[in-house]
Amino acid sequence: MAESRPVLDVVAPFLNEAQSASAFAGLLDKLEAAVSQRFGMSMHKILVDDGSSDDSVARFSQALSGSWEIVRLSRNFGKEVAVLAGLDQSRGDMVLIMDSDLQHSMDISLKMITELVDDPEIDVVYAQNDRREASWRRSQLARLFYSLINSSQRFDIPENAGDFRVMRGSVARAIATLRDKRRFNKGLFAWAGFRQKAIPYSPENRASGTSKWSRLNLIAFSLEGFTSFSVIPLRLISLSGLLAALAGAVYGAKVFFEVIFYGIAVPGYPSLLVAVVLLGGLNLTLLGLIGEYVWVTLSESKDRPVYIVRDVVRGEAPAKLPGAPGI
Ligand code: UDP
Ligand code: MG
Repeated sequence: MAESRPVLDVVAPFLNEAQSASAFAGLLDKLEAAVSQRFGMSMHKILVDDGSSDDSVARFSQALSGSWEIVRLSRNFGKEVAVLAGLDQSRGDMVLIMDSDLQHSMDISLKMITELVDDPEIDVVYAQNDRREASWRRSQLARLFYSLINSSQRFDIPENAGDFRVMRGSVARAIATLRDKRRFNKGLFAWAGFRQKAIPYSPENRASGTSKWSRLNLIAFSLEGFTSFSVIPLRLISLSGLLAALAGAVYGAKVFFEVIFYGIAVPGYPSLLVAVVLLGGLNLTLLGLIGEYVWVTLSESKDRPVYIVRDVVRGEAPAKLPGAPGI
């Protein structure tokens, strides 16, 4: 029976993507045909509604065909968590994660699947954004972020790699066991290890709507990356404290020396003000940073689930039951 064919799960989160629904469903149909023809795989589509307030779910339900389900979360949990909700439903031999706004193309998806099918030594193939269009300042910032975050660990978080990737079922299951509540997927994918391969791509332009990432969001997300995966900021705090203390000691010695041996009256007010303002500012900033880490600890220590499912809308049943041999 055809049901014994290996299954490719496609996990795609969406938030208010009604405009892209039919085009994305079309892309999935084409992908399904190609995957079936080239690799003899069937496809199961797992879309995750991350708390959409428009009629995305209705549109997707109408447009999707074949074997599909839409996991509706009880509210907006953020893309990172929505991806986890999709992975939790996945039972396939391979899992492709992609955006539903048509920025992730079928060509690159097929290329990644081909790489994975052809080389049994690889477990994950991810698309690495070559950021041709990004501004210099932004790419320098990104570089700084990654070099800082990667400088203190045994695994590297690759630059410009996102959720757009194909992995073997075993990897998807491994990722789903990581139940971080404040999720930084890039870091989790890297932490999980396995043999990963990058292929370059540049994302398509958004078909409609706008990116849900504001600059402020990006900053907050970077902070999440740090607090989940790096101890470097805390070490920098200790270092800057040490340097400030050293500088204070040297300055104090100088003052002491001048008063005792030369009788110079030290003009105290400006230096005092500088010291107070500088150290005060530094203290508050660094306290805030420590607060971030405390906040992460607090949210992880609460025993809440990572997300809540409202219900699941299903098309056809999955093509295969769990537990079949992997590719
Ligand atoms: N998305 C989501 N939840 C969110 C924000 C975004 O599920 O809170 C989905 C969105 O619908 C899209 C994908 O995640 O399919 C990527 O989002 P977006 O296009 O805003 O990000 P960008 O492509 O700019 O990185
Ligand atoms: Mg997008």
